[in-house]
Amino acid sequence: MSSKHPKGLPILFFTEMWERFSFYGMRAILVLYLTKETIGANPGLGWSNADALVLYGWYTMLVYVMSIPGGWIADRWLGQKKTVFIGGLLIAAGQLTLVLNNIETFYFGLGLIIAGVGCLKANISTMVGGLYKEGDARRDSGFTIFYIGINIGAATAPLLVGYIGEVHGWHYGFGLAGIGMLIGQTVYIWGQKYLKDVGNFVPVEKVQGSTKNKPLTKIEKDRVIVLLISFLIVIVFWTAYEQAGGLMNLYTNEKINRVVFGLEIPASLFQSVPAIFVVIFGAIVANFWMKRSKKGKESSSLFKMAIGTIVMGTGFLMMTGATLEAADGGKAMLIWLILSYLLQVIGELSISPVALSFITKLAPLKYASIMMGVYFAATGLGNKLAGLVGELAQKAGEFEVFTGIFVFCVLFGLLLLVFFKKLNKLTHGAERIIE
Ligand code: GLN
Repeated sequence: MSSKHPKGLPILFFTEMWERFSFYGMRAILVLYLTKETIGANPGLGWSNADALVLYGWYTMLVYVMSIPGGWIADRWLGQKKTVFIGGLLIAAGQLTLVLNNIETFYFGLGLIIAGVGCLKANISTMVGGLYKEGDARRDSGFTIFYIGINIGAATAPLLVGYIGEVHGWHYGFGLAGIGMLIGQTVYIWGQKYLKDVGNFVPVEKVQGSTKNKPLTKIEKDRVIVLLISFLIVIVFWTAYEQAGGLMNLYTNEKINRVVFGLEIPASLFQSVPAIFVVIFGAIVANFWMKRSKKGKESSSLFKMAIGTIVMGTGFLMMTGATLEAADGGKAMLIWLILSYLLQVIGELSISPVALSFITKLAPLKYASIMMGVYFAATGLGNKLAGLVGELAQKAGEFEVFTGIFVFCVLFGLLLLVFFKKLNKLTHGAERIIE
């Protein structure tokens, strides 16, 4: 990776790592807890699968959609730094509320987490961008490092919180998720000395070159347009990628041969595989793009996103392979699943951290947080659509849905390759590196 990063980066890295630990830990046991019968050693709420998935779909959408009000609060009122702090408190309070064994407080706790993630997630990402000046060559690699932190939290949480929740009791699992967030909050408070110049509230009239309510310039407007178009890519991407927790998870459970060296691995463990791949391949993919850019070859964010969509889509072709192998009623080889996740993650690494960095380069300063909020809301919509597409597989069949996702993503990526140069013009050089 490139030269030394600002001292604030490790602080944001560890804060977000623990926030994601808390988020993905809780997410890993939510549906299991809802559907577990109300009697027995570790009782749940006894809901039907369908009801649990509906709540799950709304939850995973709302946590990200709430990034819009979270961004608004930061831009207009508190700045990102304070909003992130409040978000952390709300999340910890929410997770700890879930420890109580009571249905009313259960909904209240979920509400607190949704509001908390809304305040924290987008704003902490914008703060990473705030560590770098315009044209700083380290910005993209800073986001890659930050993204690896996210995924260390995401990889370990389902294993730890999942184990504690399923074996020792759901409420201990929720408690562990809450403790994770408290550790993140402690790191954040301790690290404030390294974050003095980032995420502070800037009143609109003080934003460089703009007076109160002054309309956006032509360049700013063009940049907002490219951003909104790029959010379309994001929706397509997450609609496909988020099959992992739903359809891919069910398919792994039912139709993949999970026996390795005589031991059957539980399906839920495979939920950590994509995040582990991000940690392993994050730097490799980022270096690949950096080398290309140094050689003067095309490596704009939109180009990366187009290639990422195609590579991720190809991951679903592997699942088509699995459905063909299992067509006679037998089980498919595990390698299909692993290859599918590998390709999906390589695609992810060309899209997700790239998009975060791209937004911080393009968003007009006075809308910096809210644009990031809209981005996360787009990913939230992708999450919700993912549920609907996954459901379709129950009627249309897995072969059709996996193959459909593959064909759609590849065609969509090719379309982007046709148009990305035109779109790049609208960025007006926002991606230029200043040596
Ligand atoms: N996996 C990433 C994270 O948890 C991306 C989430 C998203 O953009 N919806 O931060």
